[in-house]
Amino acid sequence: MLNHFFPRTVVLYTDNHQRTPPLPHLLEYTPKGLYCPAADVYIDPHRTVPRAILTHAHSDHARRGHKYYLAHRSSEHLLRLRLGKGINLETVGYNEPVVMNGVRISLHPAGHVVGSAQIRVEHGGEVWVVSGDYKLEPDGVTQPFEPVRCHTFITESTFGLPIYQWPAQAEVFEEINAWWRHNQAAGKVSLMLGYSLGKAQRLLQNVDHGIGKVYVHDTIWNVNEAIRQGGTPLPAAIRVDRHVAKGGCIGGLLIAPMSVIRSDWVNKICPYVSGAASGWMALRRMQRSRSTDYGFVLSDHADWPGLNAAVEATGAQRVIVTHGYQSAFARHLNEQGYDAHEADRFFQTGLLRDTPVGEEREWED
Ligand SMILES: [Zn+2]
Ligand SMILES: [Zn+2]
Repeated sequence: MLNHFFPRTVVLYTDNHQRTPPLPHLLEYTPKGLYCPAADVYIDPHRTVPRAILTHAHSDHARRGHKYYLAHRSSEHLLRLRLGKGINLETVGYNEPVVMNGVRISLHPAGHVVGSAQIRVEHGGEVWVVSGDYKLEPDGVTQPFEPVRCHTFITESTFGLPIYQWPAQAEVFEEINAWWRHNQAAGKVSLMLGYSLGKAQRLLQNVDHGIGKVYVHDTIWNVNEAIRQGGTPLPAAIRVDRHVAKGGCIGGLLIAPMSVIRSDWVNKICPYVSGAASGWMALRRMQRSRSTDYGFVLSDHADWPGLNAAVEATGAQRVIVTHGYQSAFARHLNEQGYDAHEADRFFQTGLLRDTPVGEEREWED
């Protein structure tokens, strides 16, 4: 079986019985990040490299300083906004293969945020897919997730525990709209906090604009402009900068990054009620913590059923679990008959634990 072409434990012997090191996998983990030796390219590297393929524009995946970038076309202006206008960036559409040293590489929709991609790597008849971050439910903004058949699937596991099961998006937005109406009737601003790339656009796209005016914080305004320039349409909203007049947004919905809750700026928009949209709210609701007034369960990552469905749809025999609940999800997959591994152990490195994990850090700009 293809998956077992290069088992790590096999030691090849030459005629004179000298040991030859095991052949590298199609993808390996190095101190700079996930690496394809055959193509000489890294995927989402966290240190400076000559050639990088980026799955998406979140800051824990897209870092400054690489000499060459390959990413999806829709994320071009987002990447230039975050990494600098002058970066050496080549863009492709989904399913438009690029050949690097004879290795066929293509990007496929991950459904996570605008321009997010799974990376398919094919060489000598062997196919690996790196999921990057992904979710299965269409969000109305991002091109929906498409499963890609492969022999080895490297999957994230940010919410890889059975306790994480998302309500349907339509249900969550009914809840958000009702909350907004309620605050409006009370003469308050509905301050909705979410990541500036992903959650902000999903909120803007799916709230009921018939209720009142929708405002966006300056940071989100800039992200929205970069997304529109990349060819993804978004509903209009009113820009709010640091000179906002006190009471100016009353009755409206103001979408802002999480960080504003700790800034002086937030005092200018009183009276407000705050809400936050995140997958972590599923837990927070149980814990009744109160850093914001309301929590809405809305995530750009797959929940437990989503992760399982995605793995099954790839047809992969071997699954490598990274970014999140590695051991719990890998154990579960093994019980289901997969050849599943925690990325740390599979690549025989403790390095993965040092890389930023999951959603929590992505709202930082
Ligand atoms: Zn992400
Ligand atoms: Zn991530």
